Amino acid sequence: MGSIDANLQEVKRRIARAADAAGRSAQSVTLLAVSKTFAPETVRQAHAAGQRDFGENYVQEALAKIAALADLRTDLCWHLIGPLQSNKTRVVAENFDWVHTVDRLKTAERLAAQRPPALPPLQLCLQVNVSGEASKSGVVPDELPALAQAVAALPRDRVRLRGLMSIPEPADGFDAQRRPHRMLRELLLALNEQGLALDTLSMGMSADLEAAVAEGATLVRVGRALFGARS
Ligand SMILES: *Cc1c(COP(=O)(O)O)cnc(C)c1O
Repeated sequence: MGSIDANLQEVKRRIARAADAAGRSAQSVTLLAVSKTFAPETVRQAHAAGQRDFGENYVQEALAKIAALADLRTDLCWHLIGPLQSNKTRVVAENFDWVHTVDRLKTAERLAAQRPPALPPLQLCLQVNVSGEASKSGVVPDELPALAQAVAALPRDRVRLRGLMSIPEPADGFDAQRRPHRMLRELLLALNEQGLALDTLSMGMSADLEAAVAEGATLVRVGRALFGARS
């Protein structure tokens, strides 16, 4: 692995090449740096190299990191990309900018009720189970339209439904990697045809970001390719 700065440039080149191949602008894809298990100092280095969006999986770990980087708070955007239990919604509503893993109405209702009015609305994605039985997390596609309509109807000054997120089973080969991403894109299109103005497809990680960008990802979540292997 190179330095964080070199890795960041390389991942940005991968995104730019994939966007170019898909006839999209590189600016239409946001790079979310997944900093789980890495120290606040690592996030600080990535910030110094120009990175602004960071994703965390574990609420307690994230809260400690957000606190350790409080001096950078207005310059960072913190995304929760791991499972969210009901008893953690309040601290998440108070500390994060985005939550990608909403898969039931109850969670979104709690986040809306608990989002401090002084903060901008919490940005939400619905996590969709695109791998069938293989995965337990995420709303199943059949139940997505009703959930999306209900979440979109929550107070927009507290929570804002932005789009969909998925964590497909790992697959080898470009075509196999594209399939679940295409499914998520089609689900987003269908919701927009039903009147929801959703603009975010959170999909693609270190191993498959090219396939995700080819299918329209607007936000790729990259950990290992930026920070190295996690212990
Ligand atoms: C860890 C994680 C990532 C990053 O995965 P890498 O393979 O390290 O790029 C992305 N999304 C989610 C939900 C994750 O848990």
